[in-house]
Amino acid sequence: MRVGVPKETAPGERRVALVPDVVSRLEGSTVAVERGAGAAAGFPDGAYAEAGAELVEDAFAGADAVAKVAKPNESELARLHSGQLLVGFLQPLTDPDGIARLAEAGVVAFAMESIPRTTRAQAMDALSSQATVAGYKAVLLAAESLPRFFPMLTTAAGTIAPARVLVLGAGVAGLQAIAAARRLGAVVSGFDVRPAVREQVQSLGASFLDVGVVGEETEGGYARELTPEEQARQLEELGERIPEFDVVVTTAAIPGRPAPKLIPASAVAGMRPGSVIVDVAAETGGNCELTQPGEVVQVEGVTIIGTLNLPSTMPGHASQLYARNVQALLDHLAPGGELSLDWDDEITAGACVTRTKEETT
Ligand code: NAD
Repeated sequence: MRVGVPKETAPGERRVALVPDVVSRLEGSTVAVERGAGAAAGFPDGAYAEAGAELVEDAFAGADAVAKVAKPNESELARLHSGQLLVGFLQPLTDPDGIARLAEAGVVAFAMESIPRTTRAQAMDALSSQATVAGYKAVLLAAESLPRFFPMLTTAAGTIAPARVLVLGAGVAGLQAIAAARRLGAVVSGFDVRPAVREQVQSLGASFLDVGVVGEETEGGYARELTPEEQARQLEELGERIPEFDVVVTTAAIPGRPAPKLIPASAVAGMRPGSVIVDVAAETGGNCELTQPGEVVQVEGVTIIGTLNLPSTMPGHASQLYARNVQALLDHLAPGGELSLDWDDEITAGACVTRTKEETT
């Protein structure tokens, strides 16, 4: 199998789908990397050449499979052809038009978001690998913006109290944020609607913030969307508790739905000037009512960070982890470089979002 790795084209996207180390591990496949594809992530062309990749002007031409990070744009769509495999974050739940266009083009597309989150597919779980980066980076952004220390300090000039950090939504990103904030010495609390999370939060040395709302976990391990009554109760309770904190890192999400609103404007107004909110859910509208996706805004002295695509701001490790996820998926779809699509397999069938008639049978 020949795998093409184009340079990402989405504005601000610095990641690359395969890194040199993974190129050399892809057994039985040849890899064609577009010149400059890894430059923004710290992987120069020379490193790909050393790993055995061919450097090309057009990574789509002649490729049996195209490995991307973000969904293809118009011009990339036009370069994909019928029967070609595509892997990437294709946004199957939020971009039905994009998926329809891939289907029209006859592309056999696998969305990283649709890989079942089972133990067997763990190595391919790019949602988790990228959420790990986002959670960690969110805490660093908070620490950078907070006009205070995170750790407790005892100095000749006086004692500094530790920062109080609240993490809302304790999935993969949230748990990583809790761990990072703890490493920096903050006193950390976490909250999630899934009941199983309480123990995970506590095992990281954080306390669980009880707001009296307990949701349910769906079969896929995700949270069920709260009812309007539950949402209102949660908003009210969190609104009262949030002003106790210096930093709120918020990551709550429901797949395919707008981010639940957890931080009302009144809670922001109650926070001390200098406090910071990092809204990791900005991508899907944000958990805070005042978040402006893609912007950093100040509201009554509180900094609200709505930076998008946090994984791309740490492109080296984000790409390294993503590339291992892509490798695991490609090895699954084409063991030893020989394409063998088993539609009875839950990973292959689950991840595939478009396929041609021949592949269907
Ligand atoms: P996600 O990004 O969809 O959501 C982030 C968090 O927000 C979740 O923990 C969710 O419970 C929480 N949330 C949703 N609505 C909320 C609300 N109103 N208030 C507070 N919190 C709210 O989730 P994710 O991090 O991608 O994954 C969630 C879970 O999926 C994991 O923690 C795990 O249980 C499961 N998972 C399993 C595997 C596996 O078995 N291989 C891998 C990854 C994830």
